Amino acid sequence: MSASDRIPFNRPFIVGKELYYIAESVLSGHTAGDGPFSKRCQALMGETFGVRNLLMTTSCTTALEMAAILCDIEEGDEVILPSYTFVSTANAFHLRGARLVFVDIRPDTLNIDEKRVADAVTGRTRVIVPVHYAGVGCEMDAILRTAAKGGIRVVEDAAQGVNAKYKGRFLGTLGNLGTYSWHETKNFICGEGGALVIKEEPLRGRAEIIREKGTNRSQFFRGEVDKYTWVDTGSSFLPSDLLMAFLYAQLEHMQEITDRRRRLHEAYGARLAPLADRGLLTLPTIPSHCESNHHMFYVLAKDGATRDALMAHLKERAIHSVFHYVPLHSSPMGRSMGYEAGMLPVTESVSERLLRLPFFFGLQQHEIDKVVREIFAFFKVDDRAG
Ligand SMILES: *Cc1c(COP(=O)(O)O)cnc(C)c1O
Repeated sequence: MSASDRIPFNRPFIVGKELYYIAESVLSGHTAGDGPFSKRCQALMGETFGVRNLLMTTSCTTALEMAAILCDIEEGDEVILPSYTFVSTANAFHLRGARLVFVDIRPDTLNIDEKRVADAVTGRTRVIVPVHYAGVGCEMDAILRTAAKGGIRVVEDAAQGVNAKYKGRFLGTLGNLGTYSWHETKNFICGEGGALVIKEEPLRGRAEIIREKGTNRSQFFRGEVDKYTWVDTGSSFLPSDLLMAFLYAQLEHMQEITDRRRRLHEAYGARLAPLADRGLLTLPTIPSHCESNHHMFYVLAKDGATRDALMAHLKERAIHSVFHYVPLHSSPMGRSMGYEAGMLPVTESVSERLLRLPFFFGLQQHEIDKVVREIFAFFKVDDRAG
């Protein structure tokens, strides 16, 4: 079988002027952080998402780390988050000494269960971290109400939620802080990269300082101070302008990329519907008040053994599908914090049963056809039966 017959899980892509802008960045002589392309990315995103304060970062991981510093997390403060998430959501707060309070997810959207969030609040809760799984919004009205009642901040992990909406408002712009990712597996990419949205206006100044190694260099460049110096905790969280040049070309095509992903998502959904009708698979749920950016396409098998067998079947046919996530609470780190398997039943069940299918901007119709054909073959259902 030739390499071209293989269907990868993800394939990084270019849509426009990525390489041209990188050349422009090199020729401009400013390839370090906060160059012309970082500013163009910030301006374009600010305009599109209607936010004033947005800083580009080296990753969503580091944007989350900045958020944890900005929330003044101290030893023993409690942070509520899903266990069904990427490890960076947890690490950012763990690094500051927080006690992680893992909460179960909803069985429909696979997002953190807003009722369980309310139940988990104590006098020590400082932050709630909704993770918008697959680009579908968490129940933000309820979560924001719970937070407001307890004087708690909300940090949205919108790594997967760029250009998606909850009740008409962009994900990542609803809480005090929001984080985005440009990792090569996300919707808009530059290899590695991220952004921090600062809705809580007074945090803006400190965010700039933390990102600039704890110095007031940004203020210095604006002429607000006459020399720059060490004023706070910080690190180097600014991305190279070479990467922002690549990203800017992607952001120029944000809607086109989103539209294409929607068509691919709908194609999988329509083609696999007969298997869902027979009860063999469960397809993704997108509530009508959520506008997804179609970050991924997943299916849920009826049990773990079926999922594993389906994954192996696809692998034998050179189709790369992947599972998601090993729950954080039952990982070695989670267990060292006193959690154990059995505590979050929905998370554990979904983790065993979920399979992500190949899904990326350049996915071709014949590739979808092949994936669908093989899934029907696995279930021994005629694929013209629908
Ligand atoms: C991808 C992802 C991250 C990390 O993003 P990076 O930019 O790779 O650091 C964090 N949280 C979630 C939910 C993600 O999907």
